[in-house]
Amino acid sequence: MKILVVNAGSSSLKYQLIDMEGEKVIAKGLVERIGMPQPGHQKQTVGGKVYEVSGVMIENHVQATEMMLKALQDPEKGAIRSMVEIGAVGHRVLHGGTKFSESVIVNDKVKDAIRECIPLGPLHNPANLMGIEACEKVMPETPQVAVFDTAFHQTMPPKAYMYGVPKKYFTQYGVRKYGFHGTSHRYVSKRVCEFLGISPMGQRIIICHLGNGSSLSAVVDGKCVDTSMGLTPLDGLLMGTRCGTLDPAVVQFIANNENMTVDEVLNMMNKQSGLLGIGGKSNDMRDVDAAADNYDGDAMLARDMLVYGIQKYIGSYAAAMHGVDMIVFTAGIGENNAALRERVMTGMEWLGAKLSHARNASCADGKATECVISTDDSKVKILVIPTNEEIMIARDTLELVTK
Ligand code: AMP
Repeated sequence: MKILVVNAGSSSLKYQLIDMEGEKVIAKGLVERIGMPQPGHQKQTVGGKVYEVSGVMIENHVQATEMMLKALQDPEKGAIRSMVEIGAVGHRVLHGGTKFSESVIVNDKVKDAIRECIPLGPLHNPANLMGIEACEKVMPETPQVAVFDTAFHQTMPPKAYMYGVPKKYFTQYGVRKYGFHGTSHRYVSKRVCEFLGISPMGQRIIICHLGNGSSLSAVVDGKCVDTSMGLTPLDGLLMGTRCGTLDPAVVQFIANNENMTVDEVLNMMNKQSGLLGIGGKSNDMRDVDAAADNYDGDAMLARDMLVYGIQKYIGSYAAAMHGVDMIVFTAGIGENNAALRERVMTGMEWLGAKLSHARNASCADGKATECVISTDDSKVKILVIPTNEEIMIARDTLELVTK
């Protein structure tokens, strides 16, 4: 069966068509600038063939979905002859609140529940819902599945997910830690055990998902027990443009001094902070590295803050799990940036984690494959496992529609 994986953002639609026989990606595409005042852009690749459309106004997600299906069925540069070849659609949905601890087939009740979670994911859930409804409209006979970014973290115990504010905010509004990147953490924590040929039972794993957005999770017996993102993806590590954990009083302090609203401060903390806000030049770690290697003080500080933050989380999760058996790096930075992994693991020998410099160096710069990068005598195994959220979404979708 061919499964279409859709990731609808507020102004974009990313997709992959995956043939589940052999789990091969047969098409990859992106429709950008949906609902914007300027013309949009679409690019799809199928093998070496590139399909591109630009200069067209894209009014809404229904139009973007139609463009996606047209490109997929293009006689020369497409991947399928007819829409009926698509067996099901798997949608990435950001926030499932406490309602979803696993993926589900979409029906009216599920859509209502995703709608009810909009206050928790105000930027993403409306877009995710638009993506689902657009697909329902354009391909009404095809089953749709929702895969939630928060679902994997639903196994956290209350002591990990509760915040120390009066409990009524939890009971009335669901204010608690939810965690994100769950599909990635689930894929990597499962895959690393398959790769090593061991059972997840008895394993204490720290997953470091380091990309433009970053989060760590602590996984015991295949289940998440803690993670660094919170009610929203702003919490935890310093990221590309997000500040990560800070004293909440900073919000009030900056708002009062700069005459900003709380929303404006949070917008700044989401979009102008992190590597960009400290380093001053870019949210991309490659640019920060280049500047820091050139002794740019701000870039060096941004990098130091990121490394220090990761080390502190590793230490605290090792304590939380009463030990650690594996530390796994994934996502853009985790998979490709050997120098950053080296910085993170330097001084971590106390934990029983010894990096092999040669193995680490050979797993870098776009060549990332699954590999062990610790020494043979390291008590804690250190690994790189490239993440694959799309395949996880496609597998869940296949499983649900063939049940
Ligand atoms: P992601 O959000 O997972 O796409 O990751 C984006 C981050 O990964 C950026 O900060 C990039 O600097 C980093 N990254 C992506 N590809 C590479 C690469 N080939 N080499 C080094 N860093 C990379």
